[in-house]
Amino acid sequence: MSDQSGRSDARASGDVKVRWLGHAAFEVESPGGTKLVIDPFIKDNPVTPEPLKKLDRYKSADKPNAILVSHSHGDHSADAKEIAKLSGAPVIGMVELVASLGLPSEQSKGGNIGGEIRVGDVSVHLVPATHSSEAGSPIGFVIEFAGGRTLYHTGDTWIMSDMALIEEVHHPDIILTCAGGGPYTQSPKVAALSIKKFFKPSVIVPMHYATFPVLATEADVRAVFAGDARAAIMKPGDTKSF
Ligand SMILES: [Zn+2]
Repeated sequence: MSDQSGRSDARASGDVKVRWLGHAAFEVESPGGTKLVIDPFIKDNPVTPEPLKKLDRYKSADKPNAILVSHSHGDHSADAKEIAKLSGAPVIGMVELVASLGLPSEQSKGGNIGGEIRVGDVSVHLVPATHSSEAGSPIGFVIEFAGGRTLYHTGDTWIMSDMALIEEVHHPDIILTCAGGGPYTQSPKVAALSIKKFFKPSVIVPMHYATFPVLATEADVRAVFAGDARAAIMKPGDTKSF
């Protein structure tokens, strides 16, 4: 259901909670209470607020149902293993990446592009990204909530024509898009182009900027997304309901 009425029905059954920890790290909670941690680079993340760097919180208050890792680079995977150990939650990602963590089999939920992994009341779909990774291909994630609403975390990527197929298959309604530019990923301008060209979301959350000096600043990102009412420019530590 991607039409307006489908969306409002899904909305009526509860909002999706999104907390940005800075960079590509997010905590997402489904309307039904399934908690996901995505791309956990937290302890050494220069922009994560101090209280949120305490990984002990994943033992109880913020215990996730799964940890999603888009690719092997430290700015996405650094704390995945420790959070898995503290929480007992499984790690979801490319099969080679998950295997490289050496977790017990019940905590190793490796998949591959096109695959779907069920966690609580959500489905996690593994989708392509254009980047690199030391273990398996880099990916993005589409999280499908009960009722069909979807959230797309792009991982690290440049604009790519596969995004047309991600739209056709999954109709992402909330998009967490990498927009940091610099030497590594698409710039804010190209991130905005990717949305304009391929997607029809109701919410856009730019990410992967302002963490390090080589990346785009918040001002750069605001300048590009100014005038787009769908853009939610968050601060690290912010929680928003969409
Ligand atoms: Zn990155």
